[in-house]
Parts: sequence; structure tokens; C-alpha cells
Amino acid sequence: MTFTTPTSFTSPGLCLNTTKKIPLPGKIEEVRATGWLDLMKASSPTRKRQTKDVICDTQSDDLDLQYRNWMVNYPSALTSFEAISDLAGSKRLALFLDYDGTLSPIVDNPENALMSDEMRAAVRHVASLFPTAIISGRSRDKVFDFVKLNELYYAGSHGMDIMGPVRKTTDSNGVECIRSTDAHGKEVNLFQPASEFLPMITEVYEKLGESVKDIDGARMEDNKFCVSVHYRNVAEDDYKKVFHRVSAVLEDYPCLRLTHGRKVFEVRPVIDWNKGKAVEFLLESLGLNESEDVLPIYVGDDRTDEDAFKVLKASNRGFGILVSSIPKESDAFYSLRDPAEVMEFLRMLAAWKEQST
Ligand SMILES: [Mg+2]
Repeated sequence: MTFTTPTSFTSPGLCLNTTKKIPLPGKIEEVRATGWLDLMKASSPTRKRQTKDVICDTQSDDLDLQYRNWMVNYPSALTSFEAISDLAGSKRLALFLDYDGTLSPIVDNPENALMSDEMRAAVRHVASLFPTAIISGRSRDKVFDFVKLNELYYAGSHGMDIMGPVRKTTDSNGVECIRSTDAHGKEVNLFQPASEFLPMITEVYEKLGESVKDIDGARMEDNKFCVSVHYRNVAEDDYKKVFHRVSAVLEDYPCLRLTHGRKVFEVRPVIDWNKGKAVEFLLESLGLNESEDVLPIYVGDDRTDEDAFKVLKASNRGFGILVSSIPKESDAFYSLRDPAEVMEFLRMLAAWKEQST
């Protein structure tokens, strides 16, 4: 297989020792160029604004029409299930699942993003039938605390902290893993391509916390190899302030980049590593990357999941499923409206597999 190691992995020290201010990383410019304020306002619009008056009913009808038109290009994975199961045929399926907004609802306080017992049962069931991994922007420990299933593989910090199976191939491709054991004594591999950035991330977490502490509703989250600044509960008038404060802190950290998710800014090391790379890494670790008879499916709702959708699309095997209740451009092939539909899809997959064996 061709496995791409992260470009900064071999020489992050060059970055870490930088003291001079150099131009901000491209991603910040990207956020700016596309109109950061618009992005902040537009990310994750809720349906709460649709009240019961007539005007809003009309808006709601328009939204539904737009959504149905959008689904022509991103068909529902539920109504297309027969096509999916035909494609899966006798292939070995590998399942990759994002957590927030995919297995759990997006909530005002990210600490409360709990998955339901029904969802946990559905995930446990599919994991007993197919190799299944959770790939989240949260820290690996935190996402495990939410999911609480030992049957799965976990990749936290956008794939920068992977606990996977001991590699089945002997070709290491220069990827250095640490052999470890999980909570149940099972032998696992730990892969942390950004470990040298940890002191910097810890420092920037503190500085960012200090810089936004007077902004009502701004909430910090330490995701180990990345830092989140949530502004879901910040007044819209203060969005500009949040962005300026965050960018001001990052001016001193050219090796960190800023990306934007659902009402959240995320700060992470500039390394060539993302959820797409994590999918490739896990497929390889599972001994599934070379095989033509493997069908990887990735289910996710956010911008960072697009890297995984792209990987599957580019390799022309497997596909992404975007979880969204609004029309969005995506590299996914199918769609699901919300976590409830994700659960239904997982149940259908499990039922199909059990019937066919
Ligand atoms: Mg998500």
C-alpha cells in the first residue's frame, strides 16, 4: 500500500523552535478569505427559528423543498439501502463513525453531548459484525467516556491520537506506533503523529482561555492534540470579538492552524494529518487497505469529516454518508438527516448482515 506519513512528523522541531512571527498559516487566511463572520453565523443553523406562524411555515416548506432537491445528489442512505447492500454484497464492510452530530445530538454544552442507550446498543451491534472505529475531534479519552464500548477502535483529536489494533502487516512505512494495552489488557497500537506539539498545545489552550474568558458564552475544550473554542452560546454581536481574540493568540504560533466547525473554532498542529489519513491508517492496521473486497463506509456531519469522504471517493471504494438536515456541498455520496437516521441505518446494516450470513 502507499501510506503517506505526515509531512511535519519528521521535523516538527523546526517549527517548535520558531520565535519570530511569520505570516499566519494558510488556513487562517482561508477562513478570512471566505468571510469568517459569514461562516460563524452560517455554521450549523438550527430549526428553532421556525415558529408556528404562517410566514415561518412557508420558510419551512421552502427549506424542505431545497432539502429534497439536494437529496437528488445526496440520496438518503435509508431509502438507498438496497443499493448499498447490493454493493456490499459479499464484501467485508468497515465502518467509521464520527461522534458529535452523528451519534449524539449537537447540544449547547459540549460536555453534555451524550449518546442514547439505544444508539450505544446499535453501535455495539454493528461493531460485533464489522470492524468499527470512532473518529472524533474530541480527545480519545473523552470520546471513549461518551461511547463506553470496548469493541471499537478510537481515533481522537481529528485522528491525531489513534488506538488501533496491532498491525497485521510487517511493513511499517515509517509510521511509528507505540505498543500498549487497553483498559482490558488487550494489546493495541498507539499512533500519535503530533506528540511533539503537546507542550505548545497546552500553552495555547491556556492563552486562548485567558483571551476569551470575558466573552459571555465562549467555552474552551482541551482535546489533547487540538483545542476547541466553542461560540455556540456567544451573542452574535460578539462573534467578531471571538475571532479577533483567537487569531491574535495564534499570531505567535505559526505551527498551529485554525479551522472552523459547527459553531466552533479548532486549533491544531500544522501537520499533514486528518480524519482521512486516520481512515487510511486504520484500514491498513486492520489489514484491509490492500483488499479489493473491502467496503469502507464513513458517517460524519462536519467539515473535518470531508477529508475522510474525499479519501474514500478518491480511492473509488467505499463512500461517505453526510449527516445533515440542511443542504451542503460534500464529498459524501449518501446522506442521513440526523443521528436518529444514523441509528436506523446502523440497525439496517446489522439486520442485513445477520440475514445474509
Ligand atoms: Mg461531528
